[in-house]
Amino acid sequence: MTSRTCSSVVSRLTLTLACTLAVVAGPSVQTRIVADKNKYTPADDVKLGREAAAQVRKEMPLVRDGAVDEWVQSVGRRLANAIPPEFQHKEFNYTFEVVNQKEINAFALPGGPMFLNRGMIEAAKSEAEVAGVMGHEISHVALRHGTAQATKGQKFQLGAILGQVAGAVVGGTAGAIIAQGSQFGLGTYFLKYSREYESQADLLGAQMLARAGYNPREMANMFKTLEGEGGSRQPEFMSDHPNPGNRYNAINKEADSLRVQGSYATGQFESIHSRLSGMSPALTAEQIAANNKNNRRSGGGSSSAPARTVRVEPPTAQARTYQPAQFLRVSVPANWQQRQSSDVVTYAPEGGYTADSSGRTSFTHGLQVGVAQGGTGNLERDTAALLQGFARSNPGLRSAGSRRESLGGRDGLTTILNNTSDATGQPESIAVSTTQLKDGHMLFLVGVAPASESAVYEDAFSRVRRSLQIRD
Ligand SMILES: [Zn+2]
Repeated sequence: MTSRTCSSVVSRLTLTLACTLAVVAGPSVQTRIVADKNKYTPADDVKLGREAAAQVRKEMPLVRDGAVDEWVQSVGRRLANAIPPEFQHKEFNYTFEVVNQKEINAFALPGGPMFLNRGMIEAAKSEAEVAGVMGHEISHVALRHGTAQATKGQKFQLGAILGQVAGAVVGGTAGAIIAQGSQFGLGTYFLKYSREYESQADLLGAQMLARAGYNPREMANMFKTLEGEGGSRQPEFMSDHPNPGNRYNAINKEADSLRVQGSYATGQFESIHSRLSGMSPALTAEQIAANNKNNRRSGGGSSSAPARTVRVEPPTAQARTYQPAQFLRVSVPANWQQRQSSDVVTYAPEGGYTADSSGRTSFTHGLQVGVAQGGTGNLERDTAALLQGFARSNPGLRSAGSRRESLGGRDGLTTILNNTSDATGQPESIAVSTTQLKDGHMLFLVGVAPASESAVYEDAFSRVRRSLQIRD
């Protein structure tokens, strides 16, 4: 590595001094990033991101402040201009908005829309630290990680992938955006990128930072700050962008190979910070979810009444078998119908769906099957991450305990949770069962029923779990 650096330096006639420096700095060749294969077009990314962004703008409170907006735009534009030519897509449009949310997080949607939580900016110690997070996010977009991951997940596709990505991105990242039963399962699959993608975003981000005139080491510092933040509870950003391992050192090592081009800063960071601290406090995810819930209840458009009593036939003892995916067979009560939606397959009886006032459909009775990213390979830990994802879009969710229970003939875990149904406002009981697939993903079943009917439904869910056949 070192000798390669030297010879290339020598060939440019810079001679031994640079060569010595390279040796001192250790192996210092900038990492070459190669984008994964992707069966979607850049236009698909744009469409997904645009739809998801529209939803984000509808449901998340934005900081609409001229000075803050202008500042975040200028940092963002500077970074977007530093994207290497091979990862520039003419269809993409990078936009930058600040969400008035307290939790430390930021996310970017396919095709370019980026949202930064106010809490993230407030936690940063310098503009370069904010730029570090933004560079990381832009890299996910430029490398098209959302659809690349969908391309890989094809084998376990349970529904239309495109809907899946859009739903997942919104449901998972923005937390409170979709607070309804039918969105169970969306959270972690696409939002939580693989370690490999996290590492790519760190390295490409560091390279872009250097090109833009920011010190890439500040990105490493920001991640260090984030990891230390919040004690036992990790900031949301860290669970959406898990540490690929040795993150701090890896970024600093990459920084060794990079020449920071100039020293850029807008010079506005301090004034933006004091501007933000002068505003009324940012909202928590929970507050945002509650506001959205109230808005929906109070009707924004009273096209459909929110709460209602629907008579739903209890699950029949007789079963019907389905094959929702090539590798999977499942038997459910014969009076449940299969519905293949975004990223999950739902089995529900007639009347088991309810539309809330904003026209979204939730399911109140029945069961969903989906596949989530595994991550650690440890069933307990991966299940905890999945449930954390659910809890983000269902802030009232509480665990009532879990037990080992085999699923499809392999090790499984069943967790019982209590929730308040977004559609009916009534308590509901939820059973989440998980097991690992051979490729590292996790199969999950989510049974939902009103608490008052939980006994009869828990019996039906347990029959479904026992019927499961997995051939992966
Ligand atoms: Zn990331």
